[in-house]
Amino acid sequence: MKNKHDTIFAPATPPGTSAIAVVRISGPDTIKICKKIFVPAKKTDLQHAPGYTAHYGTLHAGEALLDEVILTLFRAPNSYSGEDLAEISCHGSPYIVQRLCEELTRQGIRMANPGEFTLRAFMNGKMDLSQAEAVADVIASQSRMAHGLAINQMRGGFSAVISGLREQLLEFSSLIALELDFSEEDVEFANRDKLSELINHMDTVIKDLLKSFSLGNVIKTGIPVAIIGKPNVGKSTLLNAILNEEKAIVSDIPGTTRDAIEDTIIIEGITFRFIDTAGLREAGDTIEQIGMLRTIEKIAQARIILYVIDMAESGVGEIESTLKELSVTYGGNQKTFIIIANKTDLLVKAPRHFSELMEHEVIFISAKRRENINLILDTLLKSVNLDALSDQTMLTNSRHYDALNRTHKAVKAIREGLQSGVSADLLSTDIQQALHYLGEISGEITTEEILKNIFDRFCIGK
Ligand code: GDP
Repeated sequence: MKNKHDTIFAPATPPGTSAIAVVRISGPDTIKICKKIFVPAKKTDLQHAPGYTAHYGTLHAGEALLDEVILTLFRAPNSYSGEDLAEISCHGSPYIVQRLCEELTRQGIRMANPGEFTLRAFMNGKMDLSQAEAVADVIASQSRMAHGLAINQMRGGFSAVISGLREQLLEFSSLIALELDFSEEDVEFANRDKLSELINHMDTVIKDLLKSFSLGNVIKTGIPVAIIGKPNVGKSTLLNAILNEEKAIVSDIPGTTRDAIEDTIIIEGITFRFIDTAGLREAGDTIEQIGMLRTIEKIAQARIILYVIDMAESGVGEIESTLKELSVTYGGNQKTFIIIANKTDLLVKAPRHFSELMEHEVIFISAKRRENINLILDTLLKSVNLDALSDQTMLTNSRHYDALNRTHKAVKAIREGLQSGVSADLLSTDIQQALHYLGEISGEITTEEILKNIFDRFCIGK
């Protein structure tokens, strides 16, 4: 976090040719530098130009005329970073951008680190830490749902909940500190019943948030779906049918843990990510039989499991026992199992005995003829329980999850302390703990390492 007060620049648009490209400059010398490289068409003195103004003019690198550009000016503290800031919109030629960056370096300012504009925004109190993190999520969001969650967090929905709790607890903390100052006089400034009420309230709010994480996090990254079943039941045919369904938007995103490309679809704004489908798309699936290591791994990662059976080949007994085995191993783990009975086209009608399976959700399809694939998509959507998502504040970030988990432990300790009537100084220690972890989320309490971890993940120019 050195050089907090120097002036930085970076391209804010991706490399490559485009209609326009934007280079950002932020810091105390912004105007001085702009005056050296930019000549406004109208005789404006940038030094005295107000913020939120756009200026047309020419861009120069020494003697050379580089481009005709628009320079948008923001004045501290009313800018993204909270500092004087300029955005130069030039023609989107990589050559112009490169020459401009070289010229800015020559003028003595440096290229920004990843996320440094946002880091400055945080340092200057423009946003708290969880909002800054949400900026990265907004940029990365690829579906309506992920975008909605990120925007809500960026605009402070989640921060408001956390800072609300922290402020209330802080009040009690100072009252208890006062009690410690007057410890000889055995006075109670902090009303224990009121504190209990707050602690119970915190307990509920935090528990709900923690619970929302498993869904919030997968909405951000895509809900993991596994297609499992014996060889030749039609898993890859089904995958292709799903990916080709008109309603679903298919996109390829690089897997997070490996370099493998995962197949994803977006249905009604929610991303579903098919786990490890590379093997499925090759001719021979290597999964010999259900229960093999790779299948187990897939199931472990998945939130929704599509268990495909060949109607003509499978007996109900076998399906039942596999399902039982699966639910013993993975049940109660927020996993949804959906049985897909495939190859209905080979049968005149569904065999009677399949009705015995009806306590499970069974979808009858023909993958080959692409019949009833829409039923699978509907079921995928339903299993996410959209109603629960409507306007709820959700936890999507694992750093927040960890900190909230620790807050929750401290809150439990406070509650136990209150119940057993511990001394003010013990109570105070637990309250400090809870305040500390809440403060880590919003960034009131932070370390250089936490900040580095967060902002290193940003792109250059943000
Ligand atoms: P996987 O090993 O589970 O991935 O199975 P595949 O998708 O490779 O399918 C195995 C065979 O079953 C292929 O010959 C498919 O054409 C065939 N198949 C898949 N779905 C259907 C279906 O709905 N009806 C019929 N008749 N054949 C199907």
